[in-house]
Amino acid sequence: MLKIKNLHASVEDKGILRGINLEVNPGEVHAIMGPNGSGKSTLASVIAGKEEYEVEQGEIFFEGEDINELAAEERAHKGVFLSFQYPVEIPGVSVTNFMKTAINETRKAKGLEEMPANEMLKMIREKSELLEIDRKFLSRSLNEGFSGGEKKRNEIFQMAMLEPKLAILDETDSGLDIDALRIVANGVNKLKSKDNAVIVITHYQRLLDYIVPDYVHVLHQGKIVKSGPKELAHELEEKGYDWIKEEANA
Ligand code: ADP
Ligand code: MG
Ligand code: MG
Repeated sequence: MLKIKNLHASVEDKGILRGINLEVNPGEVHAIMGPNGSGKSTLASVIAGKEEYEVEQGEIFFEGEDINELAAEERAHKGVFLSFQYPVEIPGVSVTNFMKTAINETRKAKGLEEMPANEMLKMIREKSELLEIDRKFLSRSLNEGFSGGEKKRNEIFQMAMLEPKLAILDETDSGLDIDALRIVANGVNKLKSKDNAVIVITHYQRLLDYIVPDYVHVLHQGKIVKSGPKELAHELEEKGYDWIKEEANA
């Protein structure tokens, strides 16, 4: 599904990613961990195609297609979802209406007609029930006065509605409390299938107790310096990152 080869990328002329190789197949969950500033969010942004990030070398293939030249929006339409990609706060636009627009824009880009209203309602009902989101929440103004947990809930709802092939969840800056952690984990677990894949970026081993990854990768100074099974996350929790840095520099 996703194949990244020798990716080098910079932001504001500063080299951040220095030779990333990563392969993600359908049905897999990959966790990306690593110290602050190691390039985790940059990697997520580059995959999603955020404009500020410059690819200097290497390739990104999504379902066999080189997507490097595609705009973020086009990648989203192909099924790449990055959390926090959408506007922070839109007063007067409800969670539901924002979602309707996003879905119909995606359909339009694919040459499809708007989703019939009854079908849309059915989908909203199904997904919100699955994620235990109540009606009141759906009619609230997007992100206005949302708590951390409600932001997470909205994000997971967006993911559920858009049914991405590849979801990238970058949780590093959010200071997830227990509720938010559970919302993210339950959402991901319920939406996981053999056809889609998830990349979870996290500082918290705790999250990986709920979302069990198939692979854990450690990013350090813009490179994946170690990959392993889920137990690697436990080892990191116990020993920190110093031993990884030493190994990487040896
Ligand atoms: P992580 O998510 O692992 O903490 P980031 O990818 O956010 O790391 O950041 C890696 C490095 O890139 C940091 O030194 C950060 O300051 C820099 N960086 C990231 N995004 C930007 C940006 N938009 N403008 C300037 N510097 C950035
Ligand atoms: Mg950071
Ligand atoms: Mg980050």
